[in-house]
Amino acid sequence: MFIDPFGRPITYLRISLTDRCNLRCVYCMPQEGLHWQARADQLSADEIVRVVETAAQGGVKRVRLTGGEPLVHPHVVEIVRRIASIQNIEEVSLTTNAMLLERLAQPLADAGLKRVNISLDSLDADKFRLITRGGDLARVWRGIAAAERAHLSPLKLNTVIVRGLNADELPALARLTIENDWHVRFIEVMPIGNAQDWGEGFPAPSECYVSVQEMRAALSTFDPSTSSGLRLQPVTAPMGNGPARTYRIPGALGTVGFISPLGEHFCQNCNRLRLTSDGKLRSCLVIPAEVSLRDAVRSKKPLEEYFQQAILQKPEHHDILVATPAGSQRGMSQIGG
Ligand code: SAM
Ligand code: SF4
Repeated sequence: MFIDPFGRPITYLRISLTDRCNLRCVYCMPQEGLHWQARADQLSADEIVRVVETAAQGGVKRVRLTGGEPLVHPHVVEIVRRIASIQNIEEVSLTTNAMLLERLAQPLADAGLKRVNISLDSLDADKFRLITRGGDLARVWRGIAAAERAHLSPLKLNTVIVRGLNADELPALARLTIENDWHVRFIEVMPIGNAQDWGEGFPAPSECYVSVQEMRAALSTFDPSTSSGLRLQPVTAPMGNGPARTYRIPGALGTVGFISPLGEHFCQNCNRLRLTSDGKLRSCLVIPAEVSLRDAVRSKKPLEEYFQQAILQKPEHHDILVATPAGSQRGMSQIGG
């Protein structure tokens, strides 16, 4: 069993299938994209499967595929099918921008995918296109509908709240949960990734942070234009809270969650490891230590010791602060956000 030095069992692996993406969300990557990893440096489907087999032998039960955009990977369906059939793996899920989900939802479900988390930063098509630099909101809604038809549920919708861009949409996004059994989760923007100037029409990255406390207060405050503020009752989410603090609008079918990687530590319950698309194990999203297992997997060496090394590096908690510059850190799309 993989247990870290602080007694936390490691049961969850997040895999970045690719660093590439079909969108350019302002807080994640620059308009011109990043310096993409060479294909030869990325793990192949066979190699990913071998890494997950070792992870499963060590006690990993849940795998999430992310990126970059996992659905641009040409073998995503095959990878899901092979991971889902590994002994001890109980759940394979995926985080996506949903641009390609309409066509892929059913094949992915047939391959054994259980759930999807969909990133949705605005309900306004123009603003959505602006934030994602080219995203098509209608396509995302068709992807969401296809995910529902394929029973990839419960559906989680993730919104990164950015001051001056979409913070005004908190109530409308939260209200989606009244009639839909969806889990809408509001996420604090992290100073990891695209910290350089976002360009004209965008706020300065240093001014865009909104804390979850501020988000909750904004939702609960009485709004004279709609004669309402939203009452939020704390609940335990049906699928477990993960890192989110979860609430329900009384009578609503879904829930509203708040994820604060910066303000409210969730490190004490952290059960995750990450695998980057170039074959590095990473024990923490914000601490740069990595253990490369790519050469080992290519030379067919046993991989367990690489996992043990990475787990030994897992910090008890991180102290990332709002003001921390992204510096030379890899961005979310490269680590697998
Ligand atoms: N492309 C997929 C998507 O957008 O869902 C998966 C990868 S993306 C890196 C995973 C999540 O990280 C998304 O929900 C995205 O909004 C979030 N993310 C990216 N950069 C972030 C940042 N600087 N702060 C907070 N969340 C961020
Ligand atoms: Fe792509 Fe996801 Fe990053 Fe947006 S958040 S640019 S969709 S990887």
